[in-house]
Amino acid sequence: MKSSRRKFLKLAAVSALGLGAGRIGFLGDAPAGAMDIPTAADYNAPREAKHWGMAIDTTRFNQELVDTCATACHTQHNVPTIPGKKGIKWFWGANFEESFPTEHGHNLPEDVEHRTYPLLCNQCEEPMCVRVCPTQATFKRADGIVMMDFHRCIGCRYCMAGCPFGARSFNFQDPRPFIKNFNPLFPTRTRGVVEKCNFCAELLALGKMPACVEASGGALIFGDLEDPESDIRKVLRERFALRRKPDAGTGPSVYYLM
Ligand code: SF4
Ligand code: SF4
Repeated sequence: MKSSRRKFLKLAAVSALGLGAGRIGFLGDAPAGAMDIPTAADYNAPREAKHWGMAIDTTRFNQELVDTCATACHTQHNVPTIPGKKGIKWFWGANFEESFPTEHGHNLPEDVEHRTYPLLCNQCEEPMCVRVCPTQATFKRADGIVMMDFHRCIGCRYCMAGCPFGARSFNFQDPRPFIKNFNPLFPTRTRGVVEKCNFCAELLALGKMPACVEASGGALIFGDLEDPESDIRKVLRERFALRRKPDAGTGPSVYYLM
């Protein structure tokens, strides 16, 4: 394939992920400190899976590593730090009780109730958020990723009420003035739009791993839950793991290795 055609197809794949303009941001919005725009040569073939999942090695996490991963995620997705109670979060940390309210520490290592647990959208197999969204602004892909189409979001917040994990944030105000390191390859959002972790679908399409996984130093294992030879399946065979709120019946794709 000629390099010009290859370049066109790669850029088309980025456009197909909704990384263009609309009610959300576009390249012309670039604030000071914008990150460099990679060239087509920086990209590899898309990463694909039947069912993307994540395993979190909770023995390796503390608040510092949570902050490192959160910074990587939020920088990649133009999620600014907004002071007060109206902040947006895609990746954050919490204690055992908040993370696993239906679990008790019995029969688990003694320190489980003193760890800091990373939290993010669980990319549920039966996502309540998708079921209640009236405009299909949130939908589940064939590979299990629960996506947001920011253009379709009308800000009703039914999805926030439906999610048992508090994984979604609402833009009560325009977040753009708070963005410090603008990433031109991911859309900014406006006031009135809901957002959450997308398992870095835009990076997978470019052959890359999720930003938090790259930043975690091996504490986050990402892969295909339907591939018995994948690293995530291997570690889930070897280690005891919990999923959050199993009684909610949503089937999280995020596992916590204890
Ligand atoms: S964790 Fe919440 S937002 Fe994420 S897929 Fe499940 S129900 Fe939807
Ligand atoms: S998978 Fe991507 S979007 Fe989700 S928390 Fe990690 S960095 Fe953020």
